[in-house]
Parts: sequence; structure tokens; C-alpha cells
Amino acid sequence: MMGNNYEWLRQNMVEKQIRARGITDKRILDAFYKVPRHMFVGPDQKPLAYEDHPLPIEHNQTISQPFIVALMTEALQLKVNEKILEIGTGSGYQTAILAELADHVYTIERFERLSRSASTLLGELGYNNVTYRVGDGTKGWPEQAPFDRILAAAATERIPPALLEQLDTGGKLVMPVGDPGGQQLIVAGKDSSGKITRENLGGCRFLPLVEEIDS
Ligand code: SAH
Repeated sequence: MMGNNYEWLRQNMVEKQIRARGITDKRILDAFYKVPRHMFVGPDQKPLAYEDHPLPIEHNQTISQPFIVALMTEALQLKVNEKILEIGTGSGYQTAILAELADHVYTIERFERLSRSASTLLGELGYNNVTYRVGDGTKGWPEQAPFDRILAAAATERIPPALLEQLDTGGKLVMPVGDPGGQQLIVAGKDSSGKITRENLGGCRFLPLVEEIDS
């Protein structure tokens, strides 16, 4: 398929799947217009890259549905200068969207191969405000903390305490929480006194965050 067809499919995705469902922030829509989602999936999946559902990537993982990526991004309420921690780099698609909107993204992925291909692709696309780490994201990235925003694209039964600790005051964290049967998309905030607030954006379905057990 020609590049301009992808551009047309991408515009359609933004209009029908994102804007029509109520996400109207121009900066967010522009980021979705710009990031070439078909480059983040394998050859077989490219014709489906702009469809309204998640797609498989390597290691039995998935790249989230475009609307879900947009919803989580909107929930972060980015201004421009945030330092973000992302858990679950995966294909790097959400990473690229965040890199368009914030100052710097620190992203952690447990599979080295996924991390490496995401960093190669994002490098080729010109994103130089992203730092990659291979490891267990449930422990956060203490050397770089605190973070203005934290986003995790995989679910745990409760928000990992390390992530709440590494969230700056005034910060926001968005992630799916709950067991596989009943996950909710949660936005947690930390107010100026350090108190944690919680808002529920509704039901969702993500793969689990796999916690590494220290030996
Ligand atoms: N945002 C990604 C989708 C990620 S799917 C994208 O846009 O493509 C969730 C990812 O989280 C997977 O790549 C999975 O390997 C990773 N993951 C699962 N548990 C993890 C953990 N404990 N630490 C870091 N990454 C983890």
C-alpha cells in the first residue's frame, strides 16, 4: 500500500475513532495524525494498523486500540514540559505519542527485543527525547524519579507502591487496575500534601503487568 493511503487511513482513524468519541484536544489529535502507526506493527498487520482494535506484536503482546491510547493520553493532561515514566514500551507507539506531547519519556519494557526495536524505530523517526530501559517496570525508575506523569499499558491488581512513591506532587498516573475479569482504567493523582486521589474512567481490558520475582 502506498504511503499516502496510510495517511488517509490515519486521518480517518483520528476523525472516526478518536475525535468522534470526544477527544478534541488539538495537540493530542495532531500527535495521532503524525505518528505512523503502521510502522509499529509487522508486515501482516500493516493493512489493519488503523483499524479500531488492538493488534498483536512480538512476544504475544499487543499494541493497544488507538482510542485507548488516546484516552490514556488525554487522562494525563499534558502541557508540554512533563517528565513521563511509561511502563510497557511494547511496539513504542504510545511512547511516540507521549514523546510528541511532553519533554522527556523514560520507558521500561521487560522484553529486550521489543525495547530494542522500539528504540531503533523511534530513533529513525527522529524522537530523541526518549530513554529506554529493559526491566521490571513495577519497580519504577528510582534514579530518574520523581515523574510528573506515569502511564502503564498493562494491568496489576493494585497500583505498584513504587510507582506512587515516584510520582511527583501534582502528578498523575494512569493505568488499568484489577484482575483480568474486571479491570478499571484508573487515574491517580498526588496532591500537594502527598495525598493520593483516584478517578475511575471505566472498564477496560489489558494484558497483565508481569512482576519479576527477586530471587
Ligand atoms: N504501549 C504499548 C503496548 C504495550 S502492551 C504499545 O503501544 O505498543 C504491554 C507491554 O508491557 C508489553 O510489551 C509487555 O511485555 C510489557 N510488560 C509487561 N509486564 C511488564 C513489566 N513488569 N515491566 C515492564 N514491561 C512489562
